[in-house]
Amino acid sequence: MRVAVVGAGVIGCSVAERLQRGGHQVTVYERDTVGAHASGAAAGLLAPFSEDERDAGARSLRLFPGLAQRLLEETGIDVQFHDMDSLTPAFDPEDETVLRRGGGRWLDVFELRRLEPGLHPDCRGAVLFPESQVTPPRLTQALAAAARGRGTEIREHSPVAAPEDVEDADLVVLAAGPWTADLAAAFGLEVPVWPSRGQLVRLRPAPARPAPLNRMLTHGGRYLVPKPDGAVVAGSTEEEVGFDARATADGIRGLLDFARRMVPALGDATVEEVWAALRPATFDGQPIIARASERIIIATGHNRNGILLAPITAEIVAGLVDGG
Ligand SMILES: Cc1cc2nc3c(=O)[nH]c(=O)nc-3n(C[C@H](O)[C@H](O)[C@H](O)COP(=O)(O)OP(=O)(O)OC[C@H]3O[C@@H](n4cnc5c(N)ncnc54)[C@H](O)[C@@H]3O)c2cc1C
Repeated sequence: MRVAVVGAGVIGCSVAERLQRGGHQVTVYERDTVGAHASGAAAGLLAPFSEDERDAGARSLRLFPGLAQRLLEETGIDVQFHDMDSLTPAFDPEDETVLRRGGGRWLDVFELRRLEPGLHPDCRGAVLFPESQVTPPRLTQALAAAARGRGTEIREHSPVAAPEDVEDADLVVLAAGPWTADLAAAFGLEVPVWPSRGQLVRLRPAPARPAPLNRMLTHGGRYLVPKPDGAVVAGSTEEEVGFDARATADGIRGLLDFARRMVPALGDATVEEVWAALRPATFDGQPIIARASERIIIATGHNRNGILLAPITAEIVAGLVDGG
């Protein structure tokens, strides 16, 4: 089948790679460049437990080791997938009660201090989950390269504005992130998805000190992610400000306050980079992966977990394509 995929973020590239591997002939249309938006900006947590994506998220995470290995062999790109535990610390008895109910392994204050001496002394314990991380720009580029290697054509700087732009295709997958609502409207469809801005800051801990944090940390929707090069990425805001993808003084200040509150030594870190991007948000926080008409499939709305959910999304879309 000739399939047009609109959008070369992690979702479009993952779908293209999977469909091409399944014997379809795929063309990807991208308005800008591969991974130019959220998929090239994300922090890279693969966190089904701390993000409460325990069903689809956990199934998707299980696909990552094989995918990362295959992408390395086929493209030479190391997506830096690796296991890394995550911690959610408790600062008061209410926090502790809620966290202890949510599964995971509870670490009391003594074990926590032994494992993470850099955490704020007010932490009274933490729940630990076995989770993982990846480097999202590499993942998106590797998926695109693997798809290309199997015969997919990826047309960058090629916006789709109307059905005529993809009239050669037997099937069209709309995977345009937060822009999918406008795109779908051009196809006569209503897709309730909108932008949610997330800001991030990369901190470089002061040299010649022990690493301030050895595991990922999540708390109240924010997180700290130690990266393979020693940096710590602090994220993220969740703001409904339309298609405004700027990093702002208020947003970054909030993230810096969070980082210092969790790990005081990060107050001395170098601020290396700040950036922002737009997540595709939905009413219930769940993605929309569905056949919208005989010729159109929607794959968007992955909000905070599109990197995590990319492999399982590709499998679901392949099922929709091949299952009729
Ligand atoms: C700050 C931040 C941190 C995040 N951290 C994580 C994380 O740690 N873990 C995780 O799992 N997820 C994370 N996410 C979420 C994840 O990044 C997104 O869910 C995911 O990238 C969405 O991918 P996408 O392909 O749907 O959208 P996008 O990456 O936005 O890609 C859509 C593409 O479609 C293109 N496009 C739009 N309109 C058209 C058109 N008309 N024609 C052609 N092309 C078009 C755009 O140019 C864009 O390249 C984070 C997001 C943000 C913002």
